[in-house]
Amino acid sequence: MATDIIYLNGEFMPLEEARIPVLDRGFIFGDGVYEVIPVYSRHPFRLPEHLKRLQHSLDGIRLANPLSDAEWTKLTQDLVARNAGDDQSIYFQVTRGAAKRAHEFPKDAKPTVFMMSSPLVTPPREQVENGVACVTATDFRWLKCDIKSVSLLGNCLLKQTAVDAGAAEIVMFRDGYLTEASASNVFVVRNGVLLAPPKNHLILPGITYDVVLEIAGANKIPLEVREVSEHEARSAQEIWVTSSTKEVLAVTTLDGRAVGDGKPGAVFRRVHALYQDFKQTVMRRAA
Ligand code: PMP
Repeated sequence: MATDIIYLNGEFMPLEEARIPVLDRGFIFGDGVYEVIPVYSRHPFRLPEHLKRLQHSLDGIRLANPLSDAEWTKLTQDLVARNAGDDQSIYFQVTRGAAKRAHEFPKDAKPTVFMMSSPLVTPPREQVENGVACVTATDFRWLKCDIKSVSLLGNCLLKQTAVDAGAAEIVMFRDGYLTEASASNVFVVRNGVLLAPPKNHLILPGITYDVVLEIAGANKIPLEVREVSEHEARSAQEIWVTSSTKEVLAVTTLDGRAVGDGKPGAVFRRVHALYQDFKQTVMRRAA
């Protein structure tokens, strides 16, 4: 299976054959939402949670879900089966479809449904063991960051700033408080307490974020979900970024300064190991 097989509007086909009209509102306005679901050993991880978040995003842009959860699940299984590799990253995108260009919603457009698979690339061992460098920026994105919108220009500009600085991610602050990173959630540890910014309109409700909170709860790791000031983040002993593909990664320098002692911290090492165990257990149960 050398060819990538994708799903587009009711059909599976090779990626090279997939076409969408240039008037698709995803292309013209970024009028659509997406999801990224990691697949381990051919089992999608936390698919019901991703489908719930997809529904939240669709509700946020006032677009009816074109498929039922059962249909999404079946299509995901089919897509995974049609593509090579036991570990995959599944991407879903739903746009408001093609229509004459006008800002207001078209009356009769049919949503475009696109799904693809890529190899799942998780962080190399070196990053897990040594952590990653991050830089900071003011969060200038819109005020509906809980919607997983394909309008990612802000996130792309921010991520490029990080890459230009030789950093893996960009940690953002808005009005003096920590929000998230360009494609990850951010946690900090201060005096042994794990601090997580609350899920609201300023951050994406990460699926990995929830897993980390569950792990902390189940293992009695002191946790506070509350606003984290820029000062608290900058003087934290540990900072982590989390996402479905990064899993949990320690940030060991922030704007070139060491975080804590400059090595992944004790709470990180514990949660990282627990996250790997959690994944294994879930996958064993699914097998
Ligand atoms: N915030 C942003 C802006 C993201 O793009 C992502 C990755 N999709 C996350 C947080 C982490 O979400 P998840 O754990 O569901 O991958």
